[in-house]
Order: sequence, then structure tokens, then C-alpha cells
Amino acid sequence: MFDILEYDRRNIWHPYASLKNPPPVRFASSASGLEITLADGRRLIDAVSSWWCVAHGHNHPAITEAIRAQASRMCHVMFGGFTHSPAAELAQKLAAICPAGLDKVFFADSGSIAVEVAVKMATQYQHAKGRAKRTKMLSLKGGYHGDTACAMALSDPDGMHVLFAGMMPRHFFVSKPGVLPFDAWLAELDRMFAEHGDEIAGVICEPMFQAANAMNFYDGEYLRALRKVCDEHDAVLVFDEIASGLYRTGTRWAAQQANVVPDVMTVGKALTGGHITLAATVASSRVAETISCGSPSAFMHGPTYMANPLACAAGCASLDLFASSDYASNVARIERYLRASLEPLRALENVTDVRVKGAVGVLEMRRLPDCADIERVIDRHNVWLRPFANYIYTMPPLVTDDAALGRIVEAMADLAACPPGPEAADGDFHE
Ligand SMILES: *Cc1c(COP(=O)(O)O)cnc(C)c1O
Repeated sequence: MFDILEYDRRNIWHPYASLKNPPPVRFASSASGLEITLADGRRLIDAVSSWWCVAHGHNHPAITEAIRAQASRMCHVMFGGFTHSPAAELAQKLAAICPAGLDKVFFADSGSIAVEVAVKMATQYQHAKGRAKRTKMLSLKGGYHGDTACAMALSDPDGMHVLFAGMMPRHFFVSKPGVLPFDAWLAELDRMFAEHGDEIAGVICEPMFQAANAMNFYDGEYLRALRKVCDEHDAVLVFDEIASGLYRTGTRWAAQQANVVPDVMTVGKALTGGHITLAATVASSRVAETISCGSPSAFMHGPTYMANPLACAAGCASLDLFASSDYASNVARIERYLRASLEPLRALENVTDVRVKGAVGVLEMRRLPDCADIERVIDRHNVWLRPFANYIYTMPPLVTDDAALGRIVEAMADLAACPPGPEAADGDFHE
């Protein structure tokens, strides 16, 4: 008989994994609501929303039905020369919930591509204004914007992509928020623009929450400072809301908490409720008009599967779900629960910090337990956790009830109480 796990182990790359000494993988056979069912019948609570995208729970009937209905009509058609109702409806629904003024939508096939598109928009904006030398971005240390070349180059320069430094375009960075006093950070930002303003096309950051590289929450004053400096230098401000947006950090968009509107915003992950890959780059009319009045007038990007109808139909159903109930107060409940139950874990010897915001709960560790302990805890509690770097965290589906939160926290506490593992754990260091 075909041994799937054995074949997989030898021949299929998993994210950030070796083929020589592959980390264990579990055999998923179905998923529903909060749970992933394994081939042996066990069910695991998905405490990380399958990398933060399964907002409404797995296989939500409204979303799977939308995909099914669309599949019966048209699975795909090229977006060059055609349009269709799932794309138009999704663009309209998305623009309606974006900050005021952001209403020009570019559909991308993944978050990383949406970031690449945003950076090309910033560059093309400057080009259209006759400033062809402004091709660099300014980014924050500690950030993460994706795994493709341009997105890597904007992520933490000392982070997981350091091996590729030689092939990446070089951008400008300012310190990670929270490392320096705010005034010193601000001076660094101003100095960067004073010295390199004529090369900087735009600024990109993950608003309020640096996720995959740092699990770092920071204050809205940083975003207000970025808005101000972009206004002064006519640089394009890009907020990457792929992780922080759609209520993950408590509000529909994280930047709302700072009262700052960017010029371009990227949305992904929860856009389809984690049912199928889709992302979007949404630009202000001002940015779109400037690009369109330049030469070339066309915006120069167009992936094969752009605005795939199945993905757009899933996106429409997902945004309808977001509109149909009060996600903000539900996430506030999750935040209260996580804060009350994770905060006491500060007392554990191996825990160095506890951070909670919205539906994100993070235990920063001196070092993670070793791999075998992590596996044991997952199996003991039937809770799927995916620790990385020195973080044990949960970003559960936004519909997680208190009973499931209780099981997640118990598993996290059990894991945090394990002895620290070896210094540089080989294997998973991504997300
Ligand atoms: C996950 C993520 C991306 C990349 O999205 P992919 O769909 O994995 O390409 C970009 N930016 C942020 C902030 C993310 O969290």
C-alpha cells in the first residue's frame, strides 16, 4: 500500500524543513470548526488558526458553499481582458470596510505577492512624479513581510532570511519599536529621511503588531510619526495588515487604533477565512491616479491566477461573515480570557514575558523546550501549537469559545513548564 507519511518524509518539502532530517508531520484527513481531524481519528484544536488565517473556523459551511457554487459556474478565467462578479463584489465589499479613501483594489495570489505589489506601487508612484531615483523602501527592524525576494528584503535584516542577504535588494531600516525610547527612535527616523529621502519611495510596516519575526506589540505613536514623515517627503505609506487586520488585534484594522490611514494597505490570511489563498493590495485614489497619469500609465503587475473566481467567492463569503456578527466584542472576550489566564505564567522560570492583544497570546521564553517535549504536549492535550524562535503563542480562530481557550491555555502552560531545550534548536524557526 502507498505509505503517505513515508513518501512525504522522503520527497516533499514542508515549510522551513529539511529533507535530510525532516521534523514530524501529522496526517490531517479533515477539518471542521476549531478542530483538525487526523487519519487516526484524533482531533486537535487548531490554536494557531493554521497560520492565522482560519478566522471563522475550518470548513465554514457558508464559505465552502460559496466555493462550491462558484465552481459549478466558472473556476477560472484570465483577469486580463475579463472581469466577473466574484471579483467585483469582493472589491466592493473590501473597499467598503477599508479606511476612507482606500478603494482601488489589486488582487494578488498570496500575502507575499500583495507586499511585492505594494512596493511596486510605491516605486511607480515616485516614477510617475518624475523621481525615478526613489526606488527604496524604509522598513522597521523586527518586521516580517513574506518569503518572496522583495518581501524578504523588507523583513528583519537580521532575521530568518539572513542567508539570502547577498541576493536581496537593500532597503533602509529603523529600529524595532520598543528598543529605543520613542524620541530616540523618532530622531533615527528623521535622520534616515534627511540622509536618504531622495532614494526612499515609501515606508512599510506591520501596524501595531510585528508578527512572524518578533511577536512585538507597539504603540500607535510610531504609526503617527510614520504618517507625518511620509507626508513631509511625499513617500507612500504602506501598512501590511495581512496578520494584524480583520480583527486579529481587536479592531477591524490594527491601524484604526492609532487613527492613521495609510496610502496602501495589504490584506491576506483571514481574507478568505483560511479556505483558499488570496490577498489584496488596496491603494488610495491619490496613489492610483498618480500611477495612472505616469508613463507607463499601466500598473505593471499581473499574475496568472489574478482574482481567481473561487478565491474571490470565498473572500465574499468570509467578509459577509465578518459583517454578520460582532467580531470586535468577541475578540475582546478572547483577549480578556487570554490575559487573565496567561499572565500568571510569568511566574514560570523559563518565561521571560507575557504579551496579549486581541486574539493573540504570547509567552516569550528564555528558550523553547526541545522538540520531543513539544510533540508530547500537543499529543497529551490534543491542542495544535506551533512554537517558533523563543515564542509559545496562540492565535486561535476568532470564534474560539472559552472552553477551547481553556484547553489551549492549559497546553501552553504545560509546555512553558518544560525544561528549556538545546541552544539553537534545529528545524522550525518560522512563524
Ligand atoms: C504571513 C504574512 C505575509 C506573507 O503572506 P503569505 O500569504 O504567506 O505570502 C506578509 N506579511 C505579513 C505581515 C504576514 O504575517
